[in-house]
Amino acid sequence: MKFYSLLFSILFAINFTIAQDFQKDSIQLKSIYNQVLNEGNVYENLRSLCKDVGHRLSGSPGAAKAVNWGERLLSKYDLDSVWLQELMVPHWVRGDVERLDFISGNKIYKTNCTALGGSVGTNSSVLSGQVVEIHSWKEMEELGNEKISGKLVFLNRPMNPSYITTFHAYGSCVDQRHQGAAEAAKYGAIGVIVRSMTLKFDNNPHTGSMGYKEGIEKIPAVAVSTVDAHNLSEMLKLNPQLVAKMKLNCQTLPDVLSYNVIGEIRGSEFPEKVIVVGGHLDSWDIGEGAHDDGAGVVQSIEVMNLFKKLNIRPKHTVRCILYMNEENGNRGGKTYASFVKNKGEEHIMAIESDRGGFSPRGFSVDGSDSQLAVIQTFENLFEPYQLHLFKKGYGGVDIGPLRDGKICLIGLVPDSQRYFDFHHAPTDVFENVNKRELELGSAALSSIIYLIDKYGFKSTGFNQ
Ligand SMILES: [Zn+2]
Repeated sequence: MKFYSLLFSILFAINFTIAQDFQKDSIQLKSIYNQVLNEGNVYENLRSLCKDVGHRLSGSPGAAKAVNWGERLLSKYDLDSVWLQELMVPHWVRGDVERLDFISGNKIYKTNCTALGGSVGTNSSVLSGQVVEIHSWKEMEELGNEKISGKLVFLNRPMNPSYITTFHAYGSCVDQRHQGAAEAAKYGAIGVIVRSMTLKFDNNPHTGSMGYKEGIEKIPAVAVSTVDAHNLSEMLKLNPQLVAKMKLNCQTLPDVLSYNVIGEIRGSEFPEKVIVVGGHLDSWDIGEGAHDDGAGVVQSIEVMNLFKKLNIRPKHTVRCILYMNEENGNRGGKTYASFVKNKGEEHIMAIESDRGGFSPRGFSVDGSDSQLAVIQTFENLFEPYQLHLFKKGYGGVDIGPLRDGKICLIGLVPDSQRYFDFHHAPTDVFENVNKRELELGSAALSSIIYLIDKYGFKSTGFNQ
């Protein structure tokens, strides 16, 4: 009997500890949420990044300004150290001429177009050719040289609205933007016109990165709005001989020196073990990069601010990284990962916010089953904040190169329905970000970092 009463006491004590921790952690999370919702700087910091700095494509004066902005801001929060990490970045410039007109008989239809990032220009001349509409790679192959050579290829496969997570619709469509020019050039096309990557039917063209292939001619690539794509398709039905005229003066200049911006709070127990939080500082050169990824940048900076304000002294070193060059090269993410490897630093977790400043819904975990299991034990703590997605998935572009079979990579998952309305478009501006949704994302990041810092990935027995 004595044995059973002892066992009971132990079990009771364990339960009590768990309950006490659950309560303590609930209170801590509540104070994080209260702080950011009542006194957070995250929205004002986003305003400043969007309006005082503006867009900031790698290699541009805006990007250099953003580096100074990030360093200055992190330095205000009394962190243990703030530094810049050098890297060379590509330098593509849009130029000041972007024109695409459709000519049908004596009618001229002017489009809203934007060159794709990395595209070559039209050599100061006007590129003119018949348009051939294509919806799949198979169709392109079937038309072949005979029907494509000397023409402008119009890639008009829309994002599939049946996908509930819009990233899936984007993922299964964006190959048109990335590879369209290289694929069409194989068949002798002289240029490509790509339907914008959005589910919205409007007049805004969306830019984004594209690539060429070694040994295949580089031809210009331009995106048109979904309205223009629809209209072009309709015009082609009436007149298959329709001609498009394109003029672009974008070009790629030599690489430029730039920086990742890094700030850290040293760990009190395990300073040699690092937890990373970040977003990317660069943005496309149309709009203000508010959702992509100003939101992730200011949310990550706010994590550091919250830890200091609430006197949370983390056990592990918490490092905030504002990565450069996610959009057209990911050299910031790669440079940071090789720095970590060269130094032999141990990173237990890296989290990224790069899916817009919308209401957070949970976390997608690129890690082991046991790491996911630990994260899932925190689920009830997030219930009051309406976060419910705790499942395996993608972390993020910037943190991807850190993958080493041990680190847990995590992506903050916000509601995705409106992201591609603004993504890489002139409408990705501060005014289109909601203050509370942005703040909630920052509180979610801070909370998961607080919990993983406290419990690590060892089995915690924590299952309240
Ligand atoms: Zn992004």
